[in-house]
Parts: sequence; structure tokens; C-alpha cells
Amino acid sequence: MTLKASLFSNLKDKHLPCRIAGCPNTWTFTGEEQIGWMREGHDHPPARMCPSCFAKFNQFEDITLPCAKEGCENTWVWTRAAQTHAAGRGRTQPPKDHLCDTCRKTARQIESLDVPCRIKGCQGTWVWHAQDRLLADSGAGTAEPPPRMCDACYTRFQSLQDKPIPCRVKGCHNTWPWTRHMQLEAAARGFDTPPKRMCATCATRLATFTEQPMPCRISGCENSWRLTPLAQLEAAIAGTDIAPRMCDAHYQQWTQLADRTVKCRIAGCTHTWTWTRGAQLHDQGRKLGPPRRLCDLCNDAIKALSPIELPCRNEGCTHTWTYTPEMQLASLRKGFDANTHPRRMCRDCERFLTEAHTQDLTCEKCGCDILWTKKHQLHVHLGQWEKPTLCTDCRRGND
Ligand SMILES: [Zn+2]
Ligand SMILES: [Zn+2]
Ligand SMILES: [Zn+2]
Ligand SMILES: [Zn+2]
Ligand SMILES: [Zn+2]
Ligand SMILES: [Zn+2]
Ligand SMILES: [Zn+2]
Ligand SMILES: [Zn+2]
Repeated sequence: MTLKASLFSNLKDKHLPCRIAGCPNTWTFTGEEQIGWMREGHDHPPARMCPSCFAKFNQFEDITLPCAKEGCENTWVWTRAAQTHAAGRGRTQPPKDHLCDTCRKTARQIESLDVPCRIKGCQGTWVWHAQDRLLADSGAGTAEPPPRMCDACYTRFQSLQDKPIPCRVKGCHNTWPWTRHMQLEAAARGFDTPPKRMCATCATRLATFTEQPMPCRISGCENSWRLTPLAQLEAAIAGTDIAPRMCDAHYQQWTQLADRTVKCRIAGCTHTWTWTRGAQLHDQGRKLGPPRRLCDLCNDAIKALSPIELPCRNEGCTHTWTYTPEMQLASLRKGFDANTHPRRMCRDCERFLTEAHTQDLTCEKCGCDILWTKKHQLHVHLGQWEKPTLCTDCRRGND
């Protein structure tokens, strides 16, 4: 035995780590193998698999797979070694995005691309790597980038949560989800409050309603206004009837009108009542000024009054006239005592006076004219006087 051989014979077995990444096992480099290895002039021990990996390796066969790029008909080989590596990391399937050699070369020529963030309003970009671009391409560099967020948006996205927002429909207590994505878009446009939306139930129900023309609430108007599906839905939820409304034309007029203050119609009353814009539109058909109405005070006061029948002021007349609540109110407003009743003639007397004509009678004695007034005629009608036959002078002479 030479000196060198005796040195080698002292070499001990070494336990070296398995070359398969992630494998915790070792393989044994025996002293004898070490001698052989050194004799071949190596400085470093060989990279080998552990027995278990090697057993697997032996079971594998090289697999030929199609290139991952759409439209490319080339193939690549998933080697036994690569399969063993994959198995060491727990993978049994070939990588999906593996390219053929030709495509890998092309990929190196296609550059990465900065793509705008998919969040509307965000100025950020994300990097579309060359390899991914090539995979997406059936040609070369012409594919549209997929919608993706920039890193900043994605970080925020992960910190956000979908929020339940109350349905915009009045009376509905449901919510709709303001998604993280929507929140990001709102934030990018400078909003931090959710938009007005309806819940899914309301959206479905809304679709069952159709817009309907409704008559203008102003009497005499033949125009219509549009009853929206939303208004119908809200009324259905509230269980109420549709409130009447005016047509657009009337609404326009209404916005230009102003409430007016009008004097109370009771003579002597200094109060006013309010002729509202709406009432003006209603009254407009008459083409007159404001209607004659009572102020609120008079409206209340008149309720406490009732008509009073008063005797005709003409002597001998047995008729009465009606002292109406309104007349009573007017004399109160003029400051008269409630117990002081005015003196008036009845309707019959009034009619008699309107229908009568002043006449000329002839004096039976001297033949001169006697003035025969309506009033004189009324007194005779009521049996108070007799119809005159002599003139004043002759009557005096007679005495
Ligand atoms: Zn191993
Ligand atoms: Zn290829
Ligand atoms: Zn972004
Ligand atoms: Zn709702
Ligand atoms: Zn109208
Ligand atoms: Zn009044
Ligand atoms: Zn009378
Ligand atoms: Zn006479």
C-alpha cells in the first residue's frame, strides 16, 4: 500500500445534502467514492440526489409538452430532473406558462409594459411583464393588457371591506353592497361617500313598473306629468296613493309665481288672506283677479254667527229681510255694536221700488201735475197712504 492510498483509506463516509431543492434528505459519499472522485481531479463533491429522490427520478420519464403560448406549435421537454424538483416542492403538474425555446427568446425581446391601473380615476400603473405579455399574445405584443390594479390600489383594496349601504328607495330597509372595488373607484374620484343606489329587491321590483302619464292636478289642465317607476315603487312600499302633481308647464309657471296677500272681502276688515301660488294656478282659468275671500279671523268669526230675520223698515209692511252673518260681521268690523241692527226694507219692497215708475197725476181741481214718486206709490201699496187726487195747493185750500 502506497502512502497516498493509506491516506485515502482513512477517508470517512460523508453525508451530503440532496441536490433537489427543498429535500431535507442526504446521500452518502463513501470514502471509496471520494477516492475515485478525487482521482478524477475534482475539487468539490458531486451534486447528487438522496436515494428517495433518485428512486423517484428513475420512475419519471421525460415528457414533451406544448408551448404555453397560444398559436405556437412548438414543444418543450419536462425533464425527469425537472419533474423530480417539482415533486420535491409538492407539485405533480407541469408548469402551465412554460414556453418553447423559440418563444423564450422572443419573450426576452418583448419589453415589459406599464399599464394604467384598472381603477377608474387612479393615475397609477402596474408592470405587465414580458413573459406574461407574450403568453397573452397570439401575435407579438398586440394583446390588450388584462384589467389589473396598481400596487397602491391593491394594497388599499386588501385593507378595505365591502360595506352594506341603505337602499335609496324611501321606506325600504334593505341594503346594497358597496364593494371594495367601488370604494376604490369612488376614492380615486375624490368621493368618500357611497352613491345613491337601490337594493337588489327594489331593482327587481322597479322593473315591474312602467312610466305612466298622470293628469295635471290643476283643474281644467289637459296636460299630464310622468309618474316614474321609482315614485310608484315608493308609493307601493309606503302603501300610499300617488300624490297629485302639476304638469311641467304649470310647474314652470308655479316657480315664477309668488304668494299674494289679498284684502279680506268683509267690508271694514283690515286683515288679509294669502293667495298661494298653487291657488293662483287653480283660479287662473277664471282670468280674473284674486277671488273675494275671508281672512282667517273672519272665517272663524262667521262660524259663530247665524242669520237673523228683521222686520222691513217700511211702515205697514209685514215682511222681513235676512241679516246675513256676513252683513253682521261687516258691521262688527266697522265698529258697530252687535245689538244695533240696521234698518232695511224687505225684498218685496225693494222689488216694488225697482219696478215702479215715477208718474204724473193730474189735480182734479186745478188740472196741474201732481208728482207721483215711487216712494209715494210704495206707501199707497202698503196701505199707509191713499192715492192723491188734489195738488198740494188745492189740498191746502180745501182745509
Ligand atoms: Zn432528495
Ligand atoms: Zn413557443
Ligand atoms: Zn391604482
Ligand atoms: Zn330597497
Ligand atoms: Zn297643467
Ligand atoms: Zn276679515
Ligand atoms: Zn217691506
Ligand atoms: Zn190743484
